[in-house]
Amino acid sequence: MKISDRVSKIAESATLAITTLARSMRAEGKKIIPFSAGEPDFDTPACIREAAKKAIDDGYTRYTPTTGLPELKKAICHKFESENSLMYKPDQIIVSCGAKHSLFNAILALCEEGDEVLLPVPYWVTYLEQIALAGATPVPVYCRQDTLEVEPDALRESITPRTRVLVLNNPVNPTGVVYSEKTLAEIAELSLQHDITIISDEIYEHLVYDQKPPPSIASLDPEMGKRTIVVNGVSKTFAMTGWRIGYSAGPYDAVQAMSRLQDHTTSNPTTISQIAAQAALQCPQEIIQSMVETFNRRRTLMSTLMNALPDVSFPFPRGAFYIFADFSAYLGKYFCGNLLNSSFDLAQKLLREAGVACVPGSAFGMEGFLRFSYATSEDNIETGMKQLRSFLENLT
Ligand code: PMP
Ligand code: GLU
Repeated sequence: MKISDRVSKIAESATLAITTLARSMRAEGKKIIPFSAGEPDFDTPACIREAAKKAIDDGYTRYTPTTGLPELKKAICHKFESENSLMYKPDQIIVSCGAKHSLFNAILALCEEGDEVLLPVPYWVTYLEQIALAGATPVPVYCRQDTLEVEPDALRESITPRTRVLVLNNPVNPTGVVYSEKTLAEIAELSLQHDITIISDEIYEHLVYDQKPPPSIASLDPEMGKRTIVVNGVSKTFAMTGWRIGYSAGPYDAVQAMSRLQDHTTSNPTTISQIAAQAALQCPQEIIQSMVETFNRRRTLMSTLMNALPDVSFPFPRGAFYIFADFSAYLGKYFCGNLLNSSFDLAQKLLREAGVACVPGSAFGMEGFLRFSYATSEDNIETGMKQLRSFLENLT
């Protein structure tokens, strides 16, 4: 069967592919340390699960409006107002099947052939492919090599008359960088000066360890709300990756365009999951706090063990649950006579020979790096880091 050019060009998601491979190796009885998965290992909190069970018995089993249940959208408006000082009306909110779907709707609604989209590198895998699917041109903007932060000056130099959108992720997957309010304000200034729309992916908002959640760029100036689509969701904060609920907020016209697109693709996201998401947004803050404290302990442990590896460097992560480390000193070495030429070779051998799953930096646009998720137990972190160390020691 002939596959369309549009889809032929797209690569599979490396994050999902490695995680799937690790899962199937585990099913074969191998012990695999899961540093690849970008998902919390906790169960969804009980009060959220109970709300979903009740929703089924209460008859929440039919379609809802495409953009979501009115009561959920009200809860989302309340979240934006109380946590981000952003005032939206319910018709400026659209609930979708995961934040990935929210991003897809936003990118497809805003970008087309001829448009350039600024994309800080390293980027989360999916942005690049969604921009390509929309027919637009991703313009990579490389971060500083040491801090892995994108500099407003570098963004400015990449702007052309065709620049239409900037995809900004804060806190950042894969680096754990959290942008300061000052940097966000400088980026906002660029957006205002050059009429650039921002798609602000704030899915890791609550997973920060040394500070309060960062402000949304949309809240930094009254004009910014008019040129920003804020994307968020319940997957990471509430350990709800499988429920598939993300949401976006933005100017009425853009949200209506996204809604028309969703009308003809998925319609509403799963009704029962919407009730669960509403319960999540209304659950006690302590539920988030205890998960964040656990991630914080794991961050300290993994960073300490990673720091002790020879010739490996990384910026200390401030948010999300990843360490993005430079392993380029190990490229060009051999494992049992096999040359390791790329981060992909390194990650593949590490998985097959040492039972440690991580994601090659090339998937995020940065060769020579590896991404490790610490969304796993302290036991796994200790064992996995030991296995990583002895794998590196055996390279020649
Ligand atoms: N944005 C980023 C930066 C992510 O890491 C993820 C993780 N999958 C998503 C969006 C998508 O989240 P969801 O699972 O809600 O689709
Ligand atoms: N966002 C997660 C990650 O980066 C989940 C995988 C995915 O959706 O691509 O690993």
